[in-house]
Amino acid sequence: MTVDHSPAPDQRSGAGSRSAGELPGPDIEAEWSRAVKILDGAAEICLACHVRPDGDALGSMLAVAHALHGRGPRVVASFGDLPFEIPRILRFLPGTGLLSPPDAVPGRPAVMVTFDAASPDRLGLLEPNAAAADELIVLDHHASNTGFGTVNLIDSGAAATAVLACELIDRLGAQMSREIALGLYAGLVTDTGSFKYPTTSPAVHQMAARLLAAGIQPGAVAHELWDRSPFAFLGLLSAALGRARLESGAVAGHGLVWTTVTRGDRAGHRLPFEVAESVIDVIRRTDEADVAVVLKEDDGGRWQVSTRSKGAADVGRACVALGGGGHPLAAGFTADGTAAEVMLALREQLDAAPMAPADEAGTGGVGAAPGRSRDAGR
Ligand code: 5GP
Ligand code: MN
Repeated sequence: MTVDHSPAPDQRSGAGSRSAGELPGPDIEAEWSRAVKILDGAAEICLACHVRPDGDALGSMLAVAHALHGRGPRVVASFGDLPFEIPRILRFLPGTGLLSPPDAVPGRPAVMVTFDAASPDRLGLLEPNAAAADELIVLDHHASNTGFGTVNLIDSGAAATAVLACELIDRLGAQMSREIALGLYAGLVTDTGSFKYPTTSPAVHQMAARLLAAGIQPGAVAHELWDRSPFAFLGLLSAALGRARLESGAVAGHGLVWTTVTRGDRAGHRLPFEVAESVIDVIRRTDEADVAVVLKEDDGGRWQVSTRSKGAADVGRACVALGGGGHPLAAGFTADGTAAEVMLALREQLDAAPMAPADEAGTGGVGAAPGRSRDAGR
């Protein structure tokens, strides 16, 4: 990632502050008021985050579930995967007992809140439930979010959906408990890459400080999220790294590095799909490549593709063109076919997706002019 030490022109004070990266629409303050009014008056609230949830999606949702729990409404929290499996690395989060499989979610919820989903299809099996909801509150920080809710709390300048979840929890008047803080912290630390990505503003650290004060032990969270894996993971990593290819001429000469993690790599050791998620963090270290890609074969034989950019290419734009989504510096899509075919299609899109100049695209994050997304997280 580009490191830019210039001072932030827009030191965000909170999730609710307006950034020019927001989608046009009703006044954000009015959206927050409507969201609080809807949630305060609801007898039942359904919560949904994106499929194969990461720390931001599940952590934000569980934090809000804790905040709503005990306030009166029945809370149904879920995500649209079947089989319904909570990623192992997220099982340390408090409140996983509050989760239900997607078939427990009413077909036509009176009130539904979505977390970290840039488009309705990211809700998987819960997409029709969201479409049928009387009130749909969308909480998200993807610039590509089209605002598919009846209330849209979307801020592409927010480092994580957890920032918006924190704002919502505060506006609901809930006390910051350790349970809430742990979900929010998992989201914040995941999407800022442990406070490394350019979205890591003073406000992000202020939020982290508040969460630590509520009882979070950052070392313990980091251990759960990144510093442990079964021994068999080393074999998988070795196989994936051994297959890595460097294409120096790709991405208009900025370089591309990529590899695959196949079902075969996991099968012998019965490793779950999610263990493949961290491989991109090793691949993207490559100095000679601006763009890093990992094609992860899921249990159904489809490729779940992770892409990262250091600033030369807008991988978000490339992935949107291939039916996926994400941020300019971190994005993904789902694809069928051989790895070679998928890479051919991706290379074409990457060549067509140069990053806008840094002062406009905000790839430098903290030094970037407001007006475009400054997202580099997930
Ligand atoms: P990751 O590579 O960590 O799975 O995801 C990076 C970013 O791209 C996240 O913001 C994630 O939500 C988004 N993303 C990953 N895969 C997909 C996909 O298949 N569809 C969409 N719309 N977004 C994706
Ligand atoms: Mn996120």
